[in-house]
Amino acid sequence: MKFGGTSVGRPERMHQVAKLVTQQDEPVIVVLSALSGTTNALVKIGNALAASDREAAKTEIDTLDKHYQNFIGELVTTPAAQEDARKIIAEHFEFLNIILKISFSEALSKDILAQGELLSTKLFSIYLTEKGIEHLFLPALEFMSIDANDEPHVEDIAAKLNPLLAKHTGIKLFVTQGYICKNSRGEVDNLKRGGSDYTASLVAAAIQGSVCEIWTDIDGMHNNDPRVVNKTIPIEQLSFDEAAELAYFGAKILHPTCIWPAKQTGVPVKLLNTMQPDAKGTTIRKEAGSNGVKAIAAKDDIIAINIKSSRMLLAYGFLRKIFEVFEKYKTPIDMITTSEVAVSVTIDQADHLTEIVRELEPFGTITVTKNQTIISVVGNKIAATPEVLDNLFHSLNKINISMISYGGSEHNISLLVPSQHKIETLQILNKGLFGLE
Ligand code: ASP
Ligand code: MG
Repeated sequence: MKFGGTSVGRPERMHQVAKLVTQQDEPVIVVLSALSGTTNALVKIGNALAASDREAAKTEIDTLDKHYQNFIGELVTTPAAQEDARKIIAEHFEFLNIILKISFSEALSKDILAQGELLSTKLFSIYLTEKGIEHLFLPALEFMSIDANDEPHVEDIAAKLNPLLAKHTGIKLFVTQGYICKNSRGEVDNLKRGGSDYTASLVAAAIQGSVCEIWTDIDGMHNNDPRVVNKTIPIEQLSFDEAAELAYFGAKILHPTCIWPAKQTGVPVKLLNTMQPDAKGTTIRKEAGSNGVKAIAAKDDIIAINIKSSRMLLAYGFLRKIFEVFEKYKTPIDMITTSEVAVSVTIDQADHLTEIVRELEPFGTITVTKNQTIISVVGNKIAATPEVLDNLFHSLNKINISMISYGGSEHNISLLVPSQHKIETLQILNKGLFGLE
C-alpha cells in the first residue's frame, strides 16, 4: 500500500492511513512519500546550495523545520511519542544544517532529497508505536537499488528484500520509504520525482504481492482531465498497456514507470482514494475488461520536428540516420508520422534541441514547432472499433490537428494539436467520445 504526499501531508491524514493499513487481512508493506511540499522544498534547498546561496537555503530549512514542529504537535499526543518525534526532527534538520557548511556536490543533493521520505516514515512509525500497533520499520536503503544506468531490477530488489522479510515472519505490517534507493556506487540516490509509485510496484513485484495499491486523493484514474472538463468519470478497469499509455501521456495520478514491474509479474495495481476508501477506484491488470475508448489524456510542452527531403524518396536507411541523431542526444521520440518525402517526430525534452537540429540539417529542411500538446485517446482495441474514428474526426472538424498517430498499438490514437487548442479539444472529445458535458 503506497500513500502519496497529500495522503500523509496532514496529521489527521496520517491517522487515517494508520487506520487503513491496520484493517487488512493480509500482511502489508506500506510505502510512504514525503509529506506534500517537502520534496519541492528540499529541491529548493539543494538548488540554493548549488548556487552558493546559503542564506536562501537556511531560510528554506527553517521554514520546513517549523512545518514539521507543527505537524508533530498534532500527530502524537503522549509525552514519550512527542519526545521521540522531536528527536527525529532534530536529527534530520541538524543534518540539513550541517550540509550548509560543507561544499556542495551532486551526491549531497541526493542526500538532501532523501530526508523527506525518511522523515515521513519515521514519524508514521512513531505514531503507530504510540497507538500500540505492532510493525517493523524497513529502511528502503537496505533493499532498493539502481544500476549504473540508474535502472532498478526486480531480481536485485527481491534478493535483498525477501531475506529481510523472512526474518520477521510474524510481522503483519512493514513501513518503508518510497523514492529513495542506493546507486551502483553505494550512495543514496532516488527513483526521480514521483518515484514512490515506482518503489511500490517494484516492491510488489519483488515479493510477488497479491496487489499493489496506490492511495492518492482522487478515486482512481478518470476518463479525462478533471481540471479542464466539467464532468469526468473514474475508469473501473484498465489493462497494463492502456494504463501505461495513459500514465505516460499525461494522467498525473500514476507514475508511468510504475506499470512495467507490475506487468512483468502480473501483480494488479489498484488506484484508490484515501479520502473515500470505499470507492471502487481503478484496477489495472492483464485483462482490459471492456472494449472501446476509456480515457483521453494530454501531454504538454511537446516540440514537433519536421524533416523534409526529396532524398528520402525511395531511399532506405533514411529513418535510421534520423533516429541515430536522437539516440546520440538521449532524447526519446514520442510520436512519429511519415510521408514519402517527409518525417515528423515529437520530443518532450528540449535540452539538446539545438544540437539535434544542427545534426539533422544535412538531411533536409528542418522545421521546429514548439508549444504543442499530444492528445491521446486510449482504450481497448480502439483501432478495430470503426465508431471511434468516426466520432473522433467528426467531433474535431474545427481543430487544427498537426499530426496523427494511429495503428502503432490497438490501444491508442494520438493527435498533436497546438497547445492553445488543448482545452477545447479535451472538452469536445469528452462530449464526442463519452457523451459527457
Ligand atoms: N517525494 C517524491 C516526490 O515528490 C517522490 C514521490 O512522492 O513519489 O517526487
Ligand atoms: Mg505521486
